[in-house]
Amino acid sequence: MNNEILPVNEPVLTYRPGSDERSILSAELNTQLSAVVEIPVVVGARRIVSGDTVAVTRPDQHAHVLAQVAQAGLPEVGRAIDAAVEAQCDWSRWSFEDRAAVFLKAADLLAGPWRQRLNAATMLGQGKTVQQAEIDSACELIDFLRFNVSFARQIQSMQPVSSKGVGNSLEYRPLEGFVYAVTPFNFTAIGGNLACAPALMGNTVVWKPAATAALSNYLFLQLLEEAGLPPGVINFVPGDAATVTQAVLASSEFAGLHFTGSTTVFDSLWRSASINLPLYRGYPRLVGETGGKDFVLAHRSADVDTLSIALIRGAFEYQGQKCSAASRAYIPSSLWPAVKERLVAAVAEIRAGRVTDFENFISAVIDRKAFSRINGYLDVAKSDAVTQIVAGGSSDDESGYFIEPTVIEASDPLAVTMREEIFGPVLSVYVYPDAKWDEVLRLVDETSPYALTGAVFAQERSALASARDALRFSAGNFYINDKPTGAVVGQQPFGGARRSGTNDKAGSPLNLLRWVSPRTIKETRIADRSYAYPHMVAL
Ligand code: NAD
Repeated sequence: MNNEILPVNEPVLTYRPGSDERSILSAELNTQLSAVVEIPVVVGARRIVSGDTVAVTRPDQHAHVLAQVAQAGLPEVGRAIDAAVEAQCDWSRWSFEDRAAVFLKAADLLAGPWRQRLNAATMLGQGKTVQQAEIDSACELIDFLRFNVSFARQIQSMQPVSSKGVGNSLEYRPLEGFVYAVTPFNFTAIGGNLACAPALMGNTVVWKPAATAALSNYLFLQLLEEAGLPPGVINFVPGDAATVTQAVLASSEFAGLHFTGSTTVFDSLWRSASINLPLYRGYPRLVGETGGKDFVLAHRSADVDTLSIALIRGAFEYQGQKCSAASRAYIPSSLWPAVKERLVAAVAEIRAGRVTDFENFISAVIDRKAFSRINGYLDVAKSDAVTQIVAGGSSDDESGYFIEPTVIEASDPLAVTMREEIFGPVLSVYVYPDAKWDEVLRLVDETSPYALTGAVFAQERSALASARDALRFSAGNFYINDKPTGAVVGQQPFGGARRSGTNDKAGSPLNLLRWVSPRTIKETRIADRSYAYPHMVAL
């Protein structure tokens, strides 16, 4: 790889009272609150508004409708596939630098005039506080756009050796066909990146956004258009997930899946693609980042304050709706009284409420389905003999889907809440005897089928070394004395294995490699003039 100079990560703005960014954002929030956006299906240059629509509402005020989203039916999905296939011929022949220019311009637009539009839509539509929106729809998405260009240049610089009279090269072609991007609600940046990363490499895309993230995702599509993305390169097909997917996966032109979401849904997509395999022109690339049951393991030498803050931020920020959220913790009994005191005090103090009130630390969970699922786990924690709620545990859906940050103490390390992904502001803690470090390492590794993120806290170097070794396959992103959330593009390439996905590391060249199908070209400049070899010369 060449020594491409990497971009600098987009600085996170603070939104302090009186700051410019805060006043621009406040005005934008007001604008978006006073409108209902009509979101179409976007196929090639066409915007299709069907009669069938689904409302996007505020998680923190569910009576408020922000947008009405057109639902793609089978005819629209068919047209989106045709548009993607048609656009690929031209788009894949653009020079790499011309394609890159579109995404670099998109990054600049997002860092500038579009920043607060995307942040406001992410706050209102996906229930993020300003801090959580800023690190997602502004900084992470800008970083994906800029870093991927540099990573792609590095890939292109990977070339074979040539020899005397022979020139060899690798041409990084896109896949033959289109890529299907299926994106989650919880990160605007992931939505944008799953569509843009394959497109940067010359592919065309059919993008199915999560219904609840359709507002921010549609604004981002408009930003891409302003940046010069040609029609048909990314086709936007909100709609019933199963219907859209069934039609997409039945197309012979299906060449790749770029998915982030739950493990169950990824399993079902993989199964459908396997069944349809004989239909496809080639073996499709299946890239999926899925669920997690992310751990925080503390050693008796851990610093209690650092550990407690990591637990509070790691478990409760964005209401625990991050695939990387701290969701199970293993705390030595000597530290537990102090850690528990801090957690209980924090839960009593944390401000939760609407995202428009900047003093809040957290807000509501995404929708009624999530609210019911998380409450189901709280009920389990209340009724199960091996679990006890030590902080929080209540919920209120009168105006928004609010769940109180909750800490559960489990006397059984295999309690349901220690094992299953809850995807809400719920932290389960198992307190272990200090001397049982080796046993707890085994527990951390074997308790969950996932292996996404994990963190270990210790001051003793030998404890860190043993955890790093014993938990080698327990997390794709392993943190030492830090919370397990908040991966930064270009700094901590993101993804996990086991049931957490294919570990293709978003925000690194490894992901982009999945979207190319290299052609090796050998050119012989001086050819042999005879078929005979030297050993054939008569004595
Ligand atoms: P989800 O699986 O419900 O939805 C993800 C996408 O799949 C959405 O676009 C949805 O509409 C679509 N979908 C749903 N059912 C489908 C079906 N039957 N067929 C085809 N598509 C379908 O996930 P979510 O609620 O949006 O996000 C939460 C999940 O995502 C959690 O499990 C979380 O851990 C995971 N996640 C993982 C990462 C990661 O990088 N590993 C990042 C973010 C989220």
